[in-house]
Amino acid sequence: MLVGTKHGMYINGEWISETAGGVIDVYNPATLEKIAEVPNGSVKETERAIQAAKVAFEPWANLTARERSSYLYKAYHKMMERKEELARLLTLEQGKPLREARGEIEFAASFLLWYAEEANRVYGEMIPSSKKGKRLWVVPKPIGVVAAITPWNFPSAMVTRKVAPAIAAGCTVVLKPAEQTPLSAIEIVKIFEEVGLPKGVLNLVTGDPIEIGKVLMESSDVRSITFTGSTEVGKLLMKGSAQNVKKLSLELGGHAPLLVLEDADLDLAAELAVASKYRNCGQTCICTNRIFVQESVKEEFTRKLQEKVKQLQMGNGLDDGVTIGPLIDKGGLEKVKRQVEDAISKGANVIAGGKEWKGPGGYYYEPTILNNVSNHMDIMYEETFGPVVPIVSYTTIEEAIQAANDTDYGLAAFLFTNDLSKAITIMERLEYGIIGINDVFPGTAEAPFGGVKQSGLGREGGREGIQEFIEMKYVSIAIKDV
Ligand code: ADP
Repeated sequence: MLVGTKHGMYINGEWISETAGGVIDVYNPATLEKIAEVPNGSVKETERAIQAAKVAFEPWANLTARERSSYLYKAYHKMMERKEELARLLTLEQGKPLREARGEIEFAASFLLWYAEEANRVYGEMIPSSKKGKRLWVVPKPIGVVAAITPWNFPSAMVTRKVAPAIAAGCTVVLKPAEQTPLSAIEIVKIFEEVGLPKGVLNLVTGDPIEIGKVLMESSDVRSITFTGSTEVGKLLMKGSAQNVKKLSLELGGHAPLLVLEDADLDLAAELAVASKYRNCGQTCICTNRIFVQESVKEEFTRKLQEKVKQLQMGNGLDDGVTIGPLIDKGGLEKVKRQVEDAISKGANVIAGGKEWKGPGGYYYEPTILNNVSNHMDIMYEETFGPVVPIVSYTTIEEAIQAANDTDYGLAAFLFTNDLSKAITIMERLEYGIIGINDVFPGTAEAPFGGVKQSGLGREGGREGIQEFIEMKYVSIAIKDV
């Protein structure tokens, strides 16, 4: 088993475990036991990784798309073969229930498969010229060395969602996973090593995010940064990347509203609201953060929601029957506690949960529902990233749309109704990059995922996802009649 062992960084096809900076400890958030050590890499290692990616770029970009995609197909099969082992590792370092971790490994692998296919479909264009004797081409080219910075909430899927399209497009990558969850990323890199990916195409550095981030931003050899994480760090990366005008793909925070209309299937809405809110202990950027329910059905819906929440079982994600795990760290727990205290002090009622739970030693907080919520509470504007949801009622649809859009974020919104006209009209007016109608699981490899407003730039997944790593070279050719 991988746990307890010392891990390395992967630079130019070699594993490096000795660094001047020592090591970073990795903990199981369910129990706070130390499970591994990874190198505390810094400036020197990041520079070496960028150099390796730079040298590897041209030969990699010059392979045919079929050749590049063959590595991705092989990596997909290897990942699926190792699904159970990778899922257990994921739960161990991240805390989500094993069932969810298995789902994440399948989701992660699906990006390898999808971009193995999409590698072969990066087309250019021939433009009809307005002048005689001219031929105009548009030729797609990979952008170059890509820095991929990934978060801890999906330690496996966020890696493949970035790395697969980048290398499919012909780019080379320096990957920096979150310090809380580097082990899943290390296993993905090992899979690529096993399938014979040429050295330097994918490099992995672990360590201090600020120092590593600075080198990645300042290097003119890094042409693109693809990042998933907080809006705060996204803004830092934008500022830092301005100095040499890098391309950016940013998947940032969210504050998803879930609208329940009076005609909705309330059982379905309650079931999926719970699934959306409490999966990954509320730590996904598309988790429902605010529920808006039409006044006439509020009581009935709230009762159903409370019943569903009672059925959740909190604990160590590796234990049978557990459906909600711990928060990732103390900071995550403190934020949840602060938001609940703020809401209560301003008049909210706790109608489920509302307390910390000591459990097997990690940072647990009971799945919580808040009622009597109003607009001046922090929870209505700040991303929660925890197992708490406020319920607010509305009378008119106009009111619901205004409230749903009243946020700086614009990642995902959910809507429950059986009225087609209302569904379409509301969908069109919600200022979000992703809308789920009677659906809270929109994420899939074949569709473009991403936000508007302060939720980010660019799209991941779908045919759009590979375009983030492509630049169009326009070629104008003057010819003579012969
Ligand atoms: P969270 O607050 O949810 O942990 P972050 O945005 O801090 O989210 O983390 C997402 C990723 O960004 C992680 O890999 C983290 O190490 C990295 N990161 C954090 N701060 C910086 C920074 N200043 N520069 C570059 N990367 C950073």
